Amino acid sequence: MAVLAAGTLALDDVVTDEGSVSGVPGGSALYFTAAASLFTVVRLVGIIGDDFPREELDFLRERSVNLDNLTQLQGEKTFRWGARYETDMNIRRPFRRELNVSEHFDPILDDAGRNADIVFLANLEPAHQLRVLDQMTAPRFRALDTMECYIRDDPDGLKKVIERCELLFVNDSEARIITGEVNLLKAARKLLGMGPRYVLLKKGDHGSMLVAPDFTFAAPAYPVETVVDPTGAGDSFAGGVMGYLAREESCGPDDLKKAVVYGSVAASFCVEDFSIRKLKKITLADIEARMALFRSMTTW
Ligand code: AMP
Repeated sequence: MAVLAAGTLALDDVVTDEGSVSGVPGGSALYFTAAASLFTVVRLVGIIGDDFPREELDFLRERSVNLDNLTQLQGEKTFRWGARYETDMNIRRPFRRELNVSEHFDPILDDAGRNADIVFLANLEPAHQLRVLDQMTAPRFRALDTMECYIRDDPDGLKKVIERCELLFVNDSEARIITGEVNLLKAARKLLGMGPRYVLLKKGDHGSMLVAPDFTFAAPAYPVETVVDPTGAGDSFAGGVMGYLAREESCGPDDLKKAVVYGSVAASFCVEDFSIRKLKKITLADIEARMALFRSMTTW
């Protein structure tokens, strides 16, 4: 089963203790797709300028990503974003944000996109996320991610998207801001009250927690010795989760628990290099090998 993914495609500038890069491919939808396309066909919804590297589009085609809903505007620049990470990589200081083509974004889906069964709304303005949802005919499973700027700038729009999705990906600090609850389990319960069937709390290198009304499932982050760049960890985590669900064509509680572990493994590869470099190099066999190691680390 294919997964429809809408989000940003970007050129990023990133500085960490391990080095720095400038103008490398990024964006919430690109990281998501680089991970999800290991599992299934992704229909990518987004916008880029004519400066977006051709070899990245070639890579997406090689991974069988469908680009029919990707708009490229000639004479325009791709969304640009930059951030510097502290030695504690949970602390990120953004220093650049240029909307460029994103200002003209109006996602219009083709027939195959409208009829998709599974949809992931990656970090994107809530108005655009809603625009995608409004065009879908009968999706079986809808998931969204969000970030602090959208919680601050358009809380009402965001609430409307959350209400209409089955699964909310949210990091710990965002969950606290939305709900006003410090305790994460309480925050998750409040978020469930807003409409979704599941809340998936991301806690950076502390792992993740899937919360439903009738169960809680906690997974550690896969331990990585050298984190080069944590950018896109959340998006590639979501790519592993949604890619696995789409491949299994099933989104029940047990599928979701296993999907969370696949997500952790996908994210662990993402952070081992800048941009999507590592995610481009790996195959599903690498994911499965790390799944087996992960199992041996967490079973007793
Ligand atoms: P993450 O580390 O999971 O927050 O994802 C970082 C990626 O999201 C980078 O590649 C950025 O280009 C992209 N990004 C940064 N700010 C935004 C934003 N406001 N909306 C959507 N994507 C963004």
